[in-house]
Amino acid sequence: MFCKILSGGVTGIQAGFVWVEVDMDSGLPSFTMVGSLGNEVRESRERVGVALKNTGFSLPASRVTVNLAPADRHKEGTGFDLPIAVGLLQAMDYFPKEATEGILFLGELGLSGELKKVRGVLPIVRAAKEAGIRECIVPAENAVEGAVIPGICVRGAENILQIVDCLQEGVDRERILPRTCVDRNRIMADTGEPPLDFAHVCGQQTAKRGAEIAAAGFHNLLMVGPPGAGKSMIAKRIPGILPPLLEEECLEVTGIYSVAGKLEDGQALVTRRPFQSPHHTITQTALIGGGKRPRPGLISLSHRGVLFLDELPEFSRDVIDALRQPLEDAVVQVARLDGNIVYPADVMFVAAMNPCPCGFYPDRNRCQCTQPQILRYRGKISGPILDRMDLCVELKAVEIQNLQGGRAEESSAKIRARVEGARMLQRTRFAGTMYRFNADIGAADVERFCALRAKEKKLMEKLYESMGLGARGYHRILKVARTIADLAGEEWIAEEHLLEAAGYRLV
Ligand SMILES: [Zn+2]
Repeated sequence: MFCKILSGGVTGIQAGFVWVEVDMDSGLPSFTMVGSLGNEVRESRERVGVALKNTGFSLPASRVTVNLAPADRHKEGTGFDLPIAVGLLQAMDYFPKEATEGILFLGELGLSGELKKVRGVLPIVRAAKEAGIRECIVPAENAVEGAVIPGICVRGAENILQIVDCLQEGVDRERILPRTCVDRNRIMADTGEPPLDFAHVCGQQTAKRGAEIAAAGFHNLLMVGPPGAGKSMIAKRIPGILPPLLEEECLEVTGIYSVAGKLEDGQALVTRRPFQSPHHTITQTALIGGGKRPRPGLISLSHRGVLFLDELPEFSRDVIDALRQPLEDAVVQVARLDGNIVYPADVMFVAAMNPCPCGFYPDRNRCQCTQPQILRYRGKISGPILDRMDLCVELKAVEIQNLQGGRAEESSAKIRARVEGARMLQRTRFAGTMYRFNADIGAADVERFCALRAKEKKLMEKLYESMGLGARGYHRILKVARTIADLAGEEWIAEEHLLEAAGYRLV
């Protein structure tokens, strides 16, 4: 008796289909599994055998072969337990062969036959929908995650018995395993509790202006200032002034969280821009991704959002240097024996550091650091990383007037309104291209999208000489100036925009 059950797996964040083929014949009793399997998949044999026994289905004394096709693709994870169990039960005639046609099965089995949450349900259901498959049966805990994809029926099951019941001939499936429904529009509209507000940050106008420009053009931002000046307060408020995620971006970000197993229970979609702020003891693998069983790192969990490294020089040199490539390419490449895995990593990189080891330089009343100490401290951050910072702002210690409730600070809502205005201009500008924000403009297109008039060209020539810019620095100033002009609603980049952008270069 031979049968075939459809399932799926992910490589990186790409979903692929897997056919679970089960063959049972009268040879010496054995159970063999083949098809380029990782450890978790091999262990499936034990889990499935015991789960079936404990739910009252004993395997017959026959020779069982399970093949996961295509054999040339490496398979990982625990999601094949369910399709293997369904295949065995079908080979044992517990339900008709047609019953499983057009259905994709995915889920891990516990020893008592209950279904457990797996990773990657969203991308797999999405691929199933695109391939014209009409139904997916997944663990109940994953059901909402799959159900955000319209046009495909997703059912969540608690245990294997429910699935056997619903595959019987002539039963009302909808009664046994009702289709999971989520209201995608309601989820998209629900942005949760209000994010932290800029209205609570006293003073620091330069840094706030820097954060606004960074948010408007998705530029990287470095903040330098003494402890307690509000660097991390500002960083944490940046997601609140970024334009909301588009629906397609929500799906993309949720797919990464799904693969990483980071969706919260019952969470169908990530609708807010991610904000990740790792501790400085983080390892390179945890930040960048990869590992023995590859997972997206924190940089990919910050995709389309903010990755914030506080106290940048405290991070290990290796970790900082490992950021170079992803920040440049907006993707992470993890080398594997069977080919590279690519994780998206289009982040707004925000970093903060003290100006010296004690934090109070150049206030010589408080700072006793020697010049070599200061240089060594700053030297921990390599040039190539500093080169990727589009804007650099300096913060001063908060002055007493700012704390005594002098002036009302601008709210995040007001700042976001300007950022969204700038975003609209960029969407029009980049229609039909792969760019989303000014920060994305490639070197070859800078001249086209950041065109200058004669007077401004002259100014840039002067700046190029006096600041010793180089091509990369020159382009960065143009792109930041483009964003400043967008915030002002100006069609042309003017001298004042260029001068302001140049002022954010690291000194
Ligand atoms: Zn110092």
